[in-house]
Amino acid sequence: MSFTLAIVGRPNVGKSTLFNRLVGKRLALVDDQPGVTRDLREGAARLADLKFTVIDTAGLEEATDESLQGRMRRLTERAVEMADACLFMIDARAGVLPADEVFADILRRKSARVILAANKSEGRAAEAGLIEAYSLGLGDPIALSAEHGEGLADLIEVLRPIA
Ligand code: GDP
Ligand code: MG
Repeated sequence: MSFTLAIVGRPNVGKSTLFNRLVGKRLALVDDQPGVTRDLREGAARLADLKFTVIDTAGLEEATDESLQGRMRRLTERAVEMADACLFMIDARAGVLPADEVFADILRRKSARVILAANKSEGRAAEAGLIEAYSLGLGDPIALSAEHGEGLADLIEVLRPIA
């Protein structure tokens, strides 16, 4: 059986970098609802022997009349509804910011199945942020480096029971 994983989190944490790494060139657009193709990108992901659908909440980066906070809520809630599990990404170099807490609250309220990932974890600059990630109360964070392809073995391990 296959599953759908939504990558959520504030802008600039590395969601699209991970999405691109998982999907490569197998990119498909979500559906024909107005605005959806711009805001949510869907692709066929492959990670070792796992095959699944991945959703990138891309619309947060665009400037519109809607506030960032409003878009964060709307897109995250929709992604949660489409997905079997959410990969909630923070930036380990930046640590836990107030915007990250907003996502954590949405995910808790929606009772989403959450995989917490601390990205940009390569190097010492990420150590404090990785420890801070525990304070979100969403379980043990996975240390990832989407850019360098590190931590993917740990990601496979947490995804395998969902598959
Ligand atoms: P998004 O806004 O969450 O989709 O983030 P992007 O994927 O666009 O990445 C934002 C910035 O972080 C880009 O400059 C990436 O190159 C950088 N980035 C992504 N992953 C990593 C990582 O693992 N380590 C480091 N150091 N930078 C990263
Ligand atoms: Mg992006």
